[in-house]
Amino acid sequence: MVRYQLPRGMRYSTLEERRLFYEDEFDLSKVNEWFGARIKNVVFAVIIGRHTRIFPPEYAEDKSTTILIDEYRNLNDVRRQIVEFAPEAVYYDRNVYDEKGKVQGQELAFDVDPENLTCPIHGTLEDKMNRRQGLSFCETEFKMAKEEAARLYENLISIFSKMRLVYSGRGFHIHVLDSEAYDWNYQKRYRMAKKLKKDGFRIDEWVTSGTMRLIRLPFSLHGMVSRIAVPIKVKELEDFDPVHDEKCLPRFLYPH
Ligand SMILES: [Zn+2]
Repeated sequence: MVRYQLPRGMRYSTLEERRLFYEDEFDLSKVNEWFGARIKNVVFAVIIGRHTRIFPPEYAEDKSTTILIDEYRNLNDVRRQIVEFAPEAVYYDRNVYDEKGKVQGQELAFDVDPENLTCPIHGTLEDKMNRRQGLSFCETEFKMAKEEAARLYENLISIFSKMRLVYSGRGFHIHVLDSEAYDWNYQKRYRMAKKLKKDGFRIDEWVTSGTMRLIRLPFSLHGMVSRIAVPIKVKELEDFDPVHDEKCLPRFLYPH
């Protein structure tokens, strides 16, 4: 089994820790606040153990499957279903659906991951993939990801007015909540992704174009690094240290 190399202090969560987190710590009021009015038809999704290979034995067959949570009564019910799977990751679908399941639009988002950045020590993403360490990252790469996210945010500020920056557990997501952006079609999203890449931004174009619709749910646990995905302010970015910052540390990491 390949284990990914992670910055000091980051490690995989155990099944028991995942359950503890979703039972006791997962903040549904903040999740509710994140979605605002669109909460009623949000589709959630989990991946149980695709990268960590840690999964409840009864879900061995589905450990790598993306499992949708689209039938639920309320957020407490969503929580109950998440606890049942004890997943390594929880996502939501950026598509906005109406009552009949018809797509009304899509939230635009940008994904900056540390492994995509070329590291003086660990090389390019391709080098890392060749060592089967495609998801590994180091502190230098994380620092570069912070700078990249700040630069991207600055760039987008001239186009959008309602943006949210989220520490994803590895890198950063920028969510665009401007209502016009929900109406952008695929071509427009794709062109923007291409333009940003041409300008030197190392974003994941699948996320921006919308081909990959799922994005990590803010306030969920990233089970590969044992960190909570949290919104942060762009001015906090420079000093943000996810190894020590309490707002992204789950309680099971605190020694009692
Ligand atoms: Zn590195």
